[in-house]
Amino acid sequence: MKIIMYSVLAEERPYIEAWAQKNGHEVTQITDDLTPATVELANGYDGIDIQQTIPTKDPIIYQKLASYGIKQITARMVGYEMLDLDLATQYGLTVTNIPAYSPRAIAELGLTQAMRLIRQLGYFDQRMENGDFTWNGMISREIHDLTVGVIGAGHIGGATAQIYTALGAHVIANDPVHNVELAPFLEYVDLDTLLTTADIVTIHTPLTDETENIINAKTLQQMKKTAYFINMARGGLVDTQALIVALQQHEIAGAALDTLADENLFFEHQVTPDQIPADYKILKAMPNVLISPHSAFFTNTAIKNIVEIGLNDVVTIVSGKKSANALN
Ligand code: NAD
Repeated sequence: MKIIMYSVLAEERPYIEAWAQKNGHEVTQITDDLTPATVELANGYDGIDIQQTIPTKDPIIYQKLASYGIKQITARMVGYEMLDLDLATQYGLTVTNIPAYSPRAIAELGLTQAMRLIRQLGYFDQRMENGDFTWNGMISREIHDLTVGVIGAGHIGGATAQIYTALGAHVIANDPVHNVELAPFLEYVDLDTLLTTADIVTIHTPLTDETENIINAKTLQQMKKTAYFINMARGGLVDTQALIVALQQHEIAGAALDTLADENLFFEHQVTPDQIPADYKILKAMPNVLISPHSAFFTNTAIKNIVEIGLNDVVTIVSGKKSANALN
């Protein structure tokens, strides 16, 4: 079988080559995204595997893929909002995604940043840069004494709850779906209870009309003044201006952000200072704010799983079988 993979990262290459050798398929790796200009590169292949956030909704893409005899589009990522499922169905293309490639990858960065925040390391760094090696005013708390509030206890929120429980923290969660398998690791509560009780509020919901700006001036005010807010999910879940105000007015103690609402302007790119949005600069200057460039997923385990699950799905669909990851 001949498969073309778009938007291949250097870190994916060894896993792709190992998979191709083990399974006896030919995989062509290109770095381009799938666009109307690059779709022709798929001509002559049996299967296609993509990974991109830029929209892929031009009908010409679906029409051309179908005309090449291709039967699927595998998106080797969680999100698939860049694809048009109706168009895919219309042209007989089965779309798959990867609902869970390594929830621990994201959960572990959330924990790492929460630990840095509670140990006041941003403040210590700032002091030490100025020759101040004192401890005064910087006493920390210990994780096993804290209550952690998980908003959205799915794959990643559930993994987050398990890690904090293992460290001795008390974990509460808000989620419309109650998963009995998580009973040993968390206690479900309503959102108001979570916001007013948690020492660490960590959000792991998808971005939907219902969850957009769920963290806003009102919900930030509900949090304890000593609480830390962790967002490893999507920037649009947070009203960034309200978060900046809450931090400036010490309504919460700090925040760790792996995603920002306007991140597509600069995350994953090399940019000049004038291309960096003002809200990022304000947040980055605060010693109690930690920002990472949407890198929570970027571990060797996650990349290996992303490559293997995606390519296995290509083979499954091209061979005429059904994949549990099919979206249409
Ligand atoms: P998931 O679907 O397994 O879990 C999401 C959970 O949120 C579900 O249990 C759902 O019931 C719950 N939920 C939905 N609406 C809610 C609401 N209004 N209030 C409370 N809970 C609600 O998803 P996941 O795989 O755990 O991913 C969670 C988020 O993490 C997604 O936004 C995803 O895009 C993001 N993500 C980020 C990275 C990264 O690198 N930072 C990587 C992968 C995924």
